[in-house]
Amino acid sequence: MSSTTADRVAIFTESVIREMTRLAALYDGINLAQGYPDFPAPDAIKEAAIQAIRDDHNQYSITWGTKVLRTAVSEKVRSYNRISADPETGVTICCGATEAMIAALLAIINPGDEVIIFEPFYENYGPDSIISGAVRRYITLQEPNWEFDRDELARLFNTKTKAIIINTPNNPTGKVFTREELEFIAGLCQRWDVIAVTDEIYEHILYDGTEHVSIGSLDGMQDRTITISGLSKTFSVTGWRLGYTVACPRLTDALRKAHDFLTVNAPTPLQVAGVAALHLGPDYYARLAADYRARRDYLLDVLSSVGFECFTPRGAYYTMTDISAFGYADDTEFAQYLVKDVGIAAVPGSSFYREAHLGRDRLRFAFCKKQSTLTEAAARLSRLRS
Ligand code: GLN
Repeated sequence: MSSTTADRVAIFTESVIREMTRLAALYDGINLAQGYPDFPAPDAIKEAAIQAIRDDHNQYSITWGTKVLRTAVSEKVRSYNRISADPETGVTICCGATEAMIAALLAIINPGDEVIIFEPFYENYGPDSIISGAVRRYITLQEPNWEFDRDELARLFNTKTKAIIINTPNNPTGKVFTREELEFIAGLCQRWDVIAVTDEIYEHILYDGTEHVSIGSLDGMQDRTITISGLSKTFSVTGWRLGYTVACPRLTDALRKAHDFLTVNAPTPLQVAGVAALHLGPDYYARLAADYRARRDYLLDVLSSVGFECFTPRGAYYTMTDISAFGYADDTEFAQYLVKDVGIAAVPGSSFYREAHLGRDRLRFAFCKKQSTLTEAAARLSRLRS
């Protein structure tokens, strides 16, 4: 009997990250799993959103985004990312970086084209590649510093390679790709005529003086990079679904076609408010990074003191941990125990690897939470020791 649902989705499992959020709610656990803040978004941008609705910015916008927001994004990427993009032909507003990524892949991949992915990887890149028909090739980020073997990467590039997905600062590892690493990747992209699709959603969450470099700003990459970012993480508005892409006109044109038929447009009043967000200024970004640094240091101390080995992130708001000391069969069993008996939700490491066994000793914690949440998490985690 033929199935009434498509093979395409049959192989997908529920997103483990979002499943852990469900379990956190079910067991009244503290959600250190899904990466979203539990503290308020800045008042100024909330007011701007309310005002935009009152001012009746309530209908569809141009599919690729309101002109004011595209212009603000263009100015922002010029000054922060050192990328020049015309708001008319190079900037597209999407429903979150999530939609931006799938629109980007749909725009450039033909079935059978190869895509290179750094492992461990944010779980969406798996289904994104499958939906777009890409064949995945993996390059390992090696602990403890999450470096990659350059020869191994070079060997993955071939005439079928269409794209490489970069995520810097990286989820789940906290790695921030260095300029040198990105120059090396850029060289391979140019040699093999490959497009860099780079997810930079955590670009403002950096620690210890780390520099954020956009591969799209490097020589020769202007016409072969799709840079993805958005407002979710920087302005603590993950539910607004405001992402964007920056790319040359040829790639932008292809991407906009996919985007239009996927979602038409990102929420119009929130796009208007997004302009207020992008105009907050340098103090806002400095404060954001400093606050995250305090949260990082606090949670890493707590986790280390109860027996986790933490990989210190240089950016983003997650830490991967080694859970071998606890003696559980695997990451999933330990994550279930943590959420049910300790009241803490974290993400099993296996969801970031192509094969479950590669992440069986790993658990990812998110620290984008207010201090009172982290303090309560510390109290609960202290039970682990006893
Ligand atoms: N990026 C977030 C995480 O890794 C989740 C994003 C999402 O669930 N859409 O936790």
